[in-house]
Amino acid sequence: MIDLTLNNGVTLPALGLGVFQSPPEETAAAVDAALRIGYRHIDTAAAYRNERQVGEGLRRFGIPRGDVFLETKVWVSDYGYDKTLHAFEKATGKLGVDTLDLLILHQPAPTRFDTTIAAYRALETLLAEGRVRSIGVSNFMPHHLDALLAETDVVPAVNQVEVHPYFAQPDVQAADAAHGILTQAWSPIGGITFYPGWGDGTHSVMDDPTIAEIAAAHGRTPAQVMLRWGIQQGRSVIPKSVNPERIAANIDVFDFVLDAGEVARIDGLDTGMRGGPDPDQPRDAFFDVVIDEP
Ligand code: NAP
Repeated sequence: MIDLTLNNGVTLPALGLGVFQSPPEETAAAVDAALRIGYRHIDTAAAYRNERQVGEGLRRFGIPRGDVFLETKVWVSDYGYDKTLHAFEKATGKLGVDTLDLLILHQPAPTRFDTTIAAYRALETLLAEGRVRSIGVSNFMPHHLDALLAETDVVPAVNQVEVHPYFAQPDVQAADAAHGILTQAWSPIGGITFYPGWGDGTHSVMDDPTIAEIAAAHGRTPAQVMLRWGIQQGRSVIPKSVNPERIAANIDVFDFVLDAGEVARIDGLDTGMRGGPDPDQPRDAFFDVVIDEP
């Protein structure tokens, strides 16, 4: 495992376990399995509705709090200064911890950007009070970052965005780098390209022939090649699995190296077409989602 250093000096393991769509009843076991195999970074979110089970997994394994990097996200319906302060209480209450290593805004709320700013102001307060060790954002495009930076004081430590070989967002990654923000890849093995109900079901990056060829050359799986590509380019990657074998395989990516030609071939797969929702599309229904109390 390699560690990455955030713009405030806090370090995190480059690779963590994601739990989006991990069923609550399988999440504690997945977290426990990941910790057993050596994961020390977990990414969850209020909106995933499995923060309690993430906490249960941490306790099941018995990890000392300081040994695991714990990251979660505030959902848009909890944006606003006081509401976001309370969202921290909800998250830590469910996780069963006093502090978070990274708390991020799940996405910009472009039609109500004032609430996004107010939410981020609350994160700044939590940071100043030492209740979170770092703060950041997710699904922010460069113009969202510019608007945020114009009205706030602390540069986000992380921007968690969709990055996989079919949608690499070089413009977002460049903007992040220019501001000293770590890009963290969601769907790093392209989950969004093969989840049922997303896209037309025929463009799974997991089935890409170029990835398959590079994987075969190294005696690795396509998922391992994609994770290695992300890590070699300096990103944090947070692959999701609830399957113990795949959880183990996904962290086994630190003993091989892709050469420059292979990296360039993977870079060349970018279609420029996002798999996930457009952060600029108004989605007022999201504001009706109620994040429950601990
Ligand atoms: P992903 O990690 O790229 O892919 C997950 C999918 O791949 C699951 O269907 C998983 O199924 C399968 N899988 C896992 N390991 C595999 C392997 N070695 N070989 C073949 N299939 C494998 O996609 P993601 O879950 O969308 O993204 C990862 C994490 O990013 C999420 O869990 C979440 O923490 C975060 N995320 C954030 C946002 C955001 O808006 N901020 C959006 C999406 C995701 P099994 O579980 O059955 O193995």
